[in-house]
Amino acid sequence: MTRKYHNTIACAQEMDSIDPLAKWRSEFHIPVIEGKEVKYFTGNSLGLQPKKTKEYIGEELDEWANWGVEGHFKGKHPWMHYHEMFAEPISKIVGAKPKEVVVMNNLTVNLNLLMVSFYRPTKERFKIICEAKAFPSDQYALEMQVKCAGFNPEDTIVEIAPREGEYTINHDDIYSAIEQAGDSLALVMFGGVNYFTGQVFDMETITRSGHKVGANVGFDLAHAAGNIKLDLNQWNVDFACWCSYKYMNSGPGGVSGIYVNERHCNNVELPRFAGWWGHEKESRFLMEKGFKPMKSAESWQMSNAPVLTMAAHKASVDIFDEVGMQALLEKQKHLSGYLEFVVEDINSQKGFTNPKVRGLENITPRAWNERGCQVSIVANGYGRPIFDHLMKEGVIADWREPNVIRLAPVPLYNSFEDVYHFGNILSAAL
Ligand SMILES: *Cc1c(COP(=O)(O)O)cnc(C)c1O
Repeated sequence: MTRKYHNTIACAQEMDSIDPLAKWRSEFHIPVIEGKEVKYFTGNSLGLQPKKTKEYIGEELDEWANWGVEGHFKGKHPWMHYHEMFAEPISKIVGAKPKEVVVMNNLTVNLNLLMVSFYRPTKERFKIICEAKAFPSDQYALEMQVKCAGFNPEDTIVEIAPREGEYTINHDDIYSAIEQAGDSLALVMFGGVNYFTGQVFDMETITRSGHKVGANVGFDLAHAAGNIKLDLNQWNVDFACWCSYKYMNSGPGGVSGIYVNERHCNNVELPRFAGWWGHEKESRFLMEKGFKPMKSAESWQMSNAPVLTMAAHKASVDIFDEVGMQALLEKQKHLSGYLEFVVEDINSQKGFTNPKVRGLENITPRAWNERGCQVSIVANGYGRPIFDHLMKEGVIADWREPNVIRLAPVPLYNSFEDVYHFGNILSAAL
């Protein structure tokens, strides 16, 4: 469906009135600052709180109060099996089989644990290909994994950067680097969506290219899970991990998720770090010698489930399950499409004929399947004062020095009217 957009309140309200997901906004707490509901565009950093979250956590606090340790076996959702409730709904969000996913720990912890299994360098095959300027946490994790394995990061980590004068990475450069590394390549470790530009990477082709030279391929889906269409199993990705507090609205520091391809789940010989929660269920409590991994992603679990943060996760995952990724993707196309339109309209109203020099330069790919919710704009010729104006007028967005505004209109709780007001405020700021 294509739509004719106008940068008017009437058009925004009309689109909200026909939006089948509009009712979900009232299921979230929209922050009110100085008496006014903010225009929240940082769902890519910390998603908003579902109103039911408190109730879900409260239920588990009650179970704890009522049952004590017996809560592991009694009550509505016995804690022994609490994490198992996520397998089905999360597998739908990331396009996996239920046995291929599990929710545990935090993102960087999980990335490190997965690299223990999937980065097994040898003298001949030791290189890692990743994106340049990856999220710092990922850079640190890679650097130290390489050092722990006894290699030198400088001649081990190959970073793919955008070409001179460009913001996004050209996929051909990824494929040719993979081919060039060939037999020396141990791992391709990329983001699913670049956190700075919002660029979506072609995970299917990257995986195929990596496998062709015999490397493992994994993705950090921090900015992809709950945002874009994922089909990890079909794409034959080896492993992936993500956090739940960005697009998945599960609260600060919320629990992370991992995916491990079925063929690796079935390989009990695959080295990994271990603990009791990854051991075969039948014999877990016999406390015998010898680790016997479950034949699912659960075998990467080491500890018992953090039920309170998982309860917050469940409040959000239940919403995703009810709405479905397909409906979210459909609205997202229009919502970010409308934002792009509004930005262009401001450029033309202000007479910015060359936004690369002065005006609003959209550095996020325009094709809707090459971006998710996020739109990143470089305000060329402007600096921090326009961002301060946005904040003062109740827009919560993300500012990166010297002049980049990152915006994430999220289909679950952002409205077309939010986007319209943002444009209006930005236009006044300029
Ligand atoms: C948000 C984000 C993280 C954060 O890691 P935590 O372990 O959850 O603190 C890591 N990597 C990427 C790519 C991110 O976007």
